[in-house]
Amino acid sequence: MSAPLDLLLQVQELDTAADQLRHRRQTLPQRAELAAVEAQRAELDARSSEVRARRGELAAQQQVLEDHIESSRRRRSTLESQLYGGQVAAARDLQAMNDEVRNLAAHISALEDRELEVMEAIEPLDGELQAAEVRRDELDGAAAALRRPIAEQETAIDAELADQLGQRSQLAQQLPADLLTRYEALRSRLGGTGAARLVGNSCSGCHLTLPSMEVDRIRKAPPDTIVTCEQCGRILVR
Ligand SMILES: [Zn+2]
Repeated sequence: MSAPLDLLLQVQELDTAADQLRHRRQTLPQRAELAAVEAQRAELDARSSEVRARRGELAAQQQVLEDHIESSRRRRSTLESQLYGGQVAAARDLQAMNDEVRNLAAHISALEDRELEVMEAIEPLDGELQAAEVRRDELDGAAAALRRPIAEQETAIDAELADQLGQRSQLAQQLPADLLTRYEALRSRLGGTGAARLVGNSCSGCHLTLPSMEVDRIRKAPPDTIVTCEQCGRILVR
């Protein structure tokens, strides 16, 4: 086995190990859990904003009712002070004012009933918003508890990755540039493996058995010749 090809296989091993580390980094089990917690949080926020909007509408209705109640009360007390102040003498006027006072009382009472209904409709919404607040804190706590181990593992993996990349670049710079370029092109095209060992009659890259004539040709080729697997195209290392 020629030295460059031996080196190339070591580079391949480091590249594979680095790919595995990157994959592990991306698929940390806590990531899926965190995504689920974040999805619940988003759903909760969406629901809360709907509830808050509904609550806002009801509060606006309550305000309108209160304003009506307030102006009706003012009108009633004006009428009452006129009625009992003795400035109105005509019986017909007094009767009309009395009627209006009675009507206002009924109107105020109806408005108050309506206001009570609105307040009763607001109550469960406030309850839901409070419960959502508690749930939000729980979810935030759960998310923080998941982010911590994720960050720790990322740091550990990044350190390992940096170490491997350091070794890889040291080895790679000892390879002929054209061989490295060819390997890297194959590696990016063929799912991360650009160089494979010939094990018995099969290529360890594609795991297919090569025809014996082909294996024979490969074995007889001068050691510094770059041979490739005729099935997958990877550089074959004897
Ligand atoms: Zn192959």
